[in-house]
Amino acid sequence: MARVAVVTGGTRGIGAAISEKLHQAGYKVAATYHGNDKAAADFTARTGVAHYKFDVGDYAACQSGLAQITTELGAVDVLVNNAGITRDAFLHKMTQEQWNDVIHTNLNSVFNMSRLVIEGMRDRKFGRIISISSINGQAGQVGQTNYAAAKAAIIGFTKALALESAAKGVTVNAIAPGYIDTEMVRAVPPEVLEKIVAKIPVRHLGTVDDIARTVLFLAADEATFTTGATFSVNGGQYLA
Ligand code: NDP
Repeated sequence: MARVAVVTGGTRGIGAAISEKLHQAGYKVAATYHGNDKAAADFTARTGVAHYKFDVGDYAACQSGLAQITTELGAVDVLVNNAGITRDAFLHKMTQEQWNDVIHTNLNSVFNMSRLVIEGMRDRKFGRIISISSINGQAGQVGQTNYAAAKAAIIGFTKALALESAAKGVTVNAIAPGYIDTEMVRAVPPEVLEKIVAKIPVRHLGTVDDIARTVLFLAADEATFTTGATFSVNGGQYLA
């Protein structure tokens, strides 16, 4: 039986590459998203991967979204907590809304989705929870106290849940990407990007496939001995 994987924010950017790689590897994949209907429709038309629209920061919405996914695809074996946003500002200018939005989408989502799948995973004695953190949660970044706090919290969450789940066949890991060649990074002015790349020891940006491959490794049935870890995929830019 094919394993069922849910990828939050799985219709665009890094998430889309993760959804696609899992689909190609034979998983039944549900890609979730929040607002960009066109991107979701295009993604499904291109890949054949089903999309589901709900706010991952809203517990009740996750409950009904996951109920629909379970009915249509089956019980969730692999959860990839990928959905994330930025609302950058120096702390002395940051609004409560900017803080709350990032915590809601980047951190509460990890609780909501993990909480809703963990009991079933424990009962079935198999599960893989993989959450996308960030180099900026490891190293910090100006203008990102909200984002860095959420991404660092994911690392602590991962360690604690890994310990709780280890004896139940459920592994819990995090991936901390560095600069990845996505729309967001491509929007940076070329002269700024050049300076960024010069600071990456391997001298190039990462690709969405670099992250997707790491997810595939961690999601595998055979990956039983890796848990509570954070994988830095950053070209050597920050050595945690
Ligand atoms: P994108 O902005 O390209 O895509 C984000 C995805 O998350 C979209 O599918 C979006 O849905 C979805 N999403 C956003 N908010 C919600 C929500 N409230 N509920 C459900 N889905 C939501 O992101 P990236 O691919 O750039 O980043 C993916 C992850 O990787 C994030 O967690 C990010 O923090 C992390 N990361 C990215 C790096 C990079 O270089 N890009 C570096 C380090 C970490 P919709 O399409 O509807 O908006």
